[in-house]
Amino acid sequence: MSEFQRVRGFHDIFGEEAKKFRYTANLVREKLRLYNFEEILLPVVEYLEVFQRSIGEITDIVQKEMFSFQDRKGRWLALRPEGTAGAVRAYIQNKLYSKPYIKLFYEGPMFRYERPQAGRYRQFHQIGAEVFGSIDPMVDAEVIQLVYEVLSQLRIDAVIEINSIGCKVCRPAYREALVEYFNHIEASLCEVCIDRKDRNPLRVLDCKVPTCKEAVKEVPKMVDFLCEECKEHYSKLKEYLSKLSIPYRENPNLVRGLDYYTKTVFEAVAVEFDLTVIAGGRYDYLVEELGGPPTPAIGFAVGIERLSMLLKDLPMEDPLYVVIPFGDVMDYAFLVAKLLRSEGKRVELSYKRGGLKKQLELANRLGAKYAVIIGEEEKAGGFYTLKYMETGEQLKIELAPTW
Ligand code: ATP
Ligand code: MG
Repeated sequence: MSEFQRVRGFHDIFGEEAKKFRYTANLVREKLRLYNFEEILLPVVEYLEVFQRSIGEITDIVQKEMFSFQDRKGRWLALRPEGTAGAVRAYIQNKLYSKPYIKLFYEGPMFRYERPQAGRYRQFHQIGAEVFGSIDPMVDAEVIQLVYEVLSQLRIDAVIEINSIGCKVCRPAYREALVEYFNHIEASLCEVCIDRKDRNPLRVLDCKVPTCKEAVKEVPKMVDFLCEECKEHYSKLKEYLSKLSIPYRENPNLVRGLDYYTKTVFEAVAVEFDLTVIAGGRYDYLVEELGGPPTPAIGFAVGIERLSMLLKDLPMEDPLYVVIPFGDVMDYAFLVAKLLRSEGKRVELSYKRGGLKKQLELANRLGAKYAVIIGEEEKAGGFYTLKYMETGEQLKIELAPTW
């Protein structure tokens, strides 16, 4: 065993896994481009307060999952556990509200001090998107449509769950009803939930302890408490989703682990692992709470490791050409490799020496579809010998006269 190990919860991603990761991330980015989201590159570090204020004090992330530290001047900073807080900070600081509305996306690593397990790491990669400046449920529907298209295109079997968690007008009454209900069934709640039920009762609905999951099955539902505006918003969203033929399931207990959400919340849950792969929702007060003008907004984040874990097969890769030089022909071999690459082909120039048999074996191990054999004869004649590895068939290919 080597002296140095990677830090617990952190991962090296390489080989097939890296290919799946990149393929998945690119597909999400391409989808975002089609919906006209523009990229914002955000710092990995923010002042700790940005997260405390947005995500909320009584949440798992802020209470126990943050990588926070003091800089040399004693200021508290944190590695970002999610992207929305930083995106909102940047939206306000850069006065991006001067546009009628704006659609941004970001990509990069997030950090949470969680118990590592399958699909749960301490550094993970998200692509997130945020729409600032519209309260129209049409936007909610389009965002969910985008998520649905990503899943369909990757052929991932997932269920989209939706709920509405109301607003400043209707949530307080619901909150009270929840506290009252939890006081009645306190004995069946876990310690953490008993402690947080009065300060943040919605968090209990998100508890992953089995006894709590069981205990919340019969809780009062937010949908029964929605004010007229929220009710209308939610029913419009459902109407639009039906118009778009997007299958969804209403989950009245869906609340999400962050405090900033209002009205629509949603998750895509992968059937295979019962893991949430994409999650998001509206946060109509957050911009104002962080010091910006009142700006309704909605966003979501895709966990790239989780998504790519579910990806069954990658599309075919470009065929690989391995150039095999013999004798004093390096100048010509370089030229041929350059020419083939200029045609858009994926080319490896063999870095090992040896006889033809050995070289062909090597090409095979590198995964070559074609060997490009280059000897004295090829150089003198201005051609190369292309060998199709699967059948052994060979072809003489002349270079264009300029070569
Ligand atoms: P969970 O309920 O699984 O803890 P969450 O509600 O904390 O997820 P969000 O904060 O909404 O997750 O993050 C959105 C997405 O980011 C998740 O759906 C998931 O794909 C991914 N994600 C979150 N935490 C992790 C993690 N520790 N490791 C890998 N991916 C993660
Ligand atoms: Mg979590």
